[in-house]
Amino acid sequence: MSQLSPEVQKKLENVPYVQFLCSNILGKLHSMEEHVREVPGNFKNGLGVDGSSIPGYATVTNSDVHLMADQSTLQTINIDGEGPMTKVFCDVHNTDGTRASGCVRSILREQIEKAHKMGFEPFFMSELEWFYLKNGEPLDDGHYLSVAPDDKAGPLRRQVCRHLDEAGMKVRRAHHECAAGQNEIELNLTPALKNADDTCTAMWLIRLLADQQGIEANFMPKPLGSDKAGNGLHQHQRLHDLKTGENLFANFDHPKELSPLGKKYVAGLVKYAREITAVFGMDEQTFDRLKPGHEAPVWSMWAGSNRNALVRVPAISKPESARCEFRAGDASGSPHLLAAVMLAAGLKGIEDDIAVPPECNVDPETELTPEQRKEMGIELLPTSLAECARILDASEFLHEVLGEGLCNYLIHSKEPGFNPYAH
Ligand code: GLU
Ligand code: MG
Ligand code: MG
Repeated sequence: MSQLSPEVQKKLENVPYVQFLCSNILGKLHSMEEHVREVPGNFKNGLGVDGSSIPGYATVTNSDVHLMADQSTLQTINIDGEGPMTKVFCDVHNTDGTRASGCVRSILREQIEKAHKMGFEPFFMSELEWFYLKNGEPLDDGHYLSVAPDDKAGPLRRQVCRHLDEAGMKVRRAHHECAAGQNEIELNLTPALKNADDTCTAMWLIRLLADQQGIEANFMPKPLGSDKAGNGLHQHQRLHDLKTGENLFANFDHPKELSPLGKKYVAGLVKYAREITAVFGMDEQTFDRLKPGHEAPVWSMWAGSNRNALVRVPAISKPESARCEFRAGDASGSPHLLAAVMLAAGLKGIEDDIAVPPECNVDPETELTPEQRKEMGIELLPTSLAECARILDASEFLHEVLGEGLCNYLIHSKEPGFNPYAH
């Protein structure tokens, strides 16, 4: 243990095994458990695993990859019924030290490094929505903000919140969502990489704790069909000054608005909305959700309190709390990739000085003509996996952010019948 820092050594006291975690392009975690005596060597040299068996990481003919632990994420969680679990998040490298093409964490890290070079620290906050299902049916008949006995998931949701909170993933609020059996938690605003790691961990814990009670926690975008609400993965975001920590989206001259910098970030999100959707949408359910009627966006536009909006600027109570919310995302793919591509779009908005389009306070679907939408630069979000493949193929922006290898893999992943776990 000698080459480990005293802080890390302390965290490993009395720990028998450490779970080396990496997240795949579908946002699912993979874990290799190593005996603690192996840990110093693995922290130094990486832990070799078969990358060809993890969706998106490597090919069978060149399958070796190394899990490179990010020691700052080492943590023990005490899970009811499972006991303590010590885990560490990893980046995935090829044996020559380059990032594995599908290492979603490295791709997000690259965008965060770009933000740092521009003088920004990106902060993100996730809203997770999911259904609790028993034998395929919603657990209860509750609706938005229901209380017990209509809300049957209260105890389970509170157990989730306690576990996350104890493990340093602070939950800001939790509630019953609109549809029967539907729930939501909001994590606290944190630096973007921690937010993506926490989002994956939260989904894992929510599934695990539900499973212990014979309940399924389903995060898919539209698991109960077109006429029922869908599950979004909304992401609130803003940039802080890297040196002073001040919120750069705050506008002290016009406190109800975002700062000029914040508006350019929003302009980037709106401009690249189709590309962002092409990346996060990994299942046809994505496009079943991005339809009118259930508070999910359909068109690329931004607004204040309009819940049809792709990007919403929540009511700003004080300038310091200013932020924007991207509402199209879902959990069919990787939270790390979703964050990476949103951040890349926002930064591009700033870099290219993109002008923010006018606010759209109406429903573009029913209250604007095609000509008006065209005039306002409002585009339809993709409607199928095949369309996403075409966008991925044609987009210079996505090739730059994701790299050639991952772009090609994602294009392949949108083909009918694609099975990420086939071997
Ligand atoms: N469930 C909605 C969606 O699919 C969002 C509802 C809300 O605004 O929280 O995005
Ligand atoms: Mg919600
Ligand atoms: Mg929201």
